[in-house]
Amino acid sequence: MSETLANLLNETRAFPPPDALAADANVTAAAYDEAAADRLGFWADQAGRLDWAQRWEQTLDWSNPPFAKWFVGGRLNVAYNCLDRHVAAGHGDRVAIHWEGEPGDTRTITYAELLRLTCQAANALTDLGVSAGDRVAIYLPMIPEAAVAMLACARIGATHSVVFGGFSADALSSRIADASAKVVITADGGYRRGKPSDLKSTVDEAVARTDTVEHVLVVRRTGEQVNWGDKDVWWHETVETAADSHEAQAFDAEHPLFILYTSGTTAKPKGILHTTGGYLTQVSYTTHAVFDLKPETDVYWCTADIGWVTGHSYIVYGPLSNGATQVMYEGTPDTPNKGRFWEIVDRYGVSILYTAPTLIRTMMKWGEDIPAEHDLSSLRLLGSVGEPINPEAWMWYRQHIGKGNCPVVDTWWQTETGGMMISPLPGVTAAKPGSAMSPLPGIVADVVDDQGQPVPNGGGGYLVLSEPWPSMLRTIWGDDQRFLETYWSRFGAGANQGDDWVYFAGDGAKKDDDGHLWLLGRVDDVMLVSGHNISTTEVESALVSHPSVAEAAVVGATDPTTGQAIVAFTIPRGNIDTEGDAGEALIAELRNHVAKTLGPIAKPRQIMLVPELPKTRSGKIMRRLLRDVAENRSLGDVTTLQDSSVMELISTGMRSAT
Ligand code: ATP
Ligand code: MG
Repeated sequence: MSETLANLLNETRAFPPPDALAADANVTAAAYDEAAADRLGFWADQAGRLDWAQRWEQTLDWSNPPFAKWFVGGRLNVAYNCLDRHVAAGHGDRVAIHWEGEPGDTRTITYAELLRLTCQAANALTDLGVSAGDRVAIYLPMIPEAAVAMLACARIGATHSVVFGGFSADALSSRIADASAKVVITADGGYRRGKPSDLKSTVDEAVARTDTVEHVLVVRRTGEQVNWGDKDVWWHETVETAADSHEAQAFDAEHPLFILYTSGTTAKPKGILHTTGGYLTQVSYTTHAVFDLKPETDVYWCTADIGWVTGHSYIVYGPLSNGATQVMYEGTPDTPNKGRFWEIVDRYGVSILYTAPTLIRTMMKWGEDIPAEHDLSSLRLLGSVGEPINPEAWMWYRQHIGKGNCPVVDTWWQTETGGMMISPLPGVTAAKPGSAMSPLPGIVADVVDDQGQPVPNGGGGYLVLSEPWPSMLRTIWGDDQRFLETYWSRFGAGANQGDDWVYFAGDGAKKDDDGHLWLLGRVDDVMLVSGHNISTTEVESALVSHPSVAEAAVVGATDPTTGQAIVAFTIPRGNIDTEGDAGEALIAELRNHVAKTLGPIAKPRQIMLVPELPKTRSGKIMRRLLRDVAENRSLGDVTTLQDSSVMELISTGMRSAT
């Protein structure tokens, strides 16, 4: 890249924490000072929030960078920390999971019951021949058994690889093969948009193409007919009949806990490896700090799927290690109606909600009348993760969901980082809409230029992490070389720039005049227009700030005069007329609106009004496919696309609008 990212968008609003929340916050500004004075000591203190069977001898071994070892010599059991110790402390009757199925069936599971179920599953897996170090693939809908399966693996030291239940047989078989999984845990199906959706036949197809799987453990969820082979065993005939006590053994702090593949927004998914002690330390601490979680009184709800890292860290390991009560929901937000989420918030008295910008923008598109019909007064804190959140979406979330009373924490992190890295602290930070603000205590991040030099306030460049952190990925499963190349060869020692190892996150960012961080999307998505680097995120945010726009995706298309030109795909809000001349007029208005907001350099060459955008299964916009459309190429790899008919919708929608 020839120069640093242009710094276009100016957002000056800021919202300090509500007084009552600040006065009672789990973590205060002192945490920043403690971590700055002694970073490793700070993380050792956070590790002390867990129960260790054996204390570590060394907090960090960084003698062979970038291969880190945290809490060297320490031993602990993750499931023990999530379950047994809460029961032992007298909290066995506390609800761990308020589960709601899409058809409306419910289950209430206490910590004592979750422990019993996990012990049974641990015993059943052991009977199936699974032992410490083996890999188990988990391909389940959002049912409590998904959490039980993960915890049971952790309990016996088996490394789980959760594969999102919406993935194809192709995606599943390549992940099974990559990790040489011995057992697959699945279900007959789950409920999706009001119908049972089959999983078992996908597993059959995937398993037939691989040669390591010995058993397939099947949960009965829908009761639909399934094919049965000699590897198949029912969950209710094995797990539910197994002994319900199991003594958890402690494992080394660096024992592999799980492999998880990234969402594939940019390239072939990478099998990210996370280990035990450092991972649990950071996800447990960040849950406590960033959500200000009070296990006795809060009801927490993270709307992610367990198939993504957000589900691993902030449905299973973070909340349960803190003894939280949480909601878990199986289905989609619009089944049976578009108010489903808000019914759930009202019914369970959800106080902390963690969701993704894609959902917030969808809710904006559906209109604020829908949440207004529900009592959302139990909410006290709102979180966002997954993509940059446009300032107007942030404001909408704060106003129409949080009623102006809840801090919004925009949390930046990745599958690779394991836990949150950059986020406001809800009792401390005066958060600005659209900014992830500052690195959390104990985390060191910066924005650097092409040469790896930190940019001054007001500048833009590449986001880097300059010091190792406890929940960092340890490698890409089976591919140390790709690990080195992808993350450690762009800046720092791995690029022959000085002695310090610097992690390249792959995201662009800027520092505002106060030094706060703004994520600008992936470096691969940055556009180069007439010699200026312009971030897709900023142009998208400018479009979303127009009252007629719900969602926008922007790409750079090759252009004979400007190098690249800005092409925007825009979804109008529900009530907007886009037929014929009205559509043309709106397009002209939006082009001018962007030029007025960001400057003439950012004026899109072309704006298309479309009904949908291509997204990954985790709901992220896949700009590379839109780039293919904008440049009239045939489409690249679409296997991680949520809905393959979307691309056709876009092409037809486009023709009618331009
Ligand atoms: P792949 O690496 O396979 O392309 P992915 O990066 O989408 O997939 P994840 O690890 O799920 O896979 O997502 C992490 C990325 O999501 C971050 O690198 C960043 O681009 C984006 N992201 C997550 N949270 C935020 C946030 N709060 N603000 C801005 N961007 C975010
Ligand atoms: Mg990524």
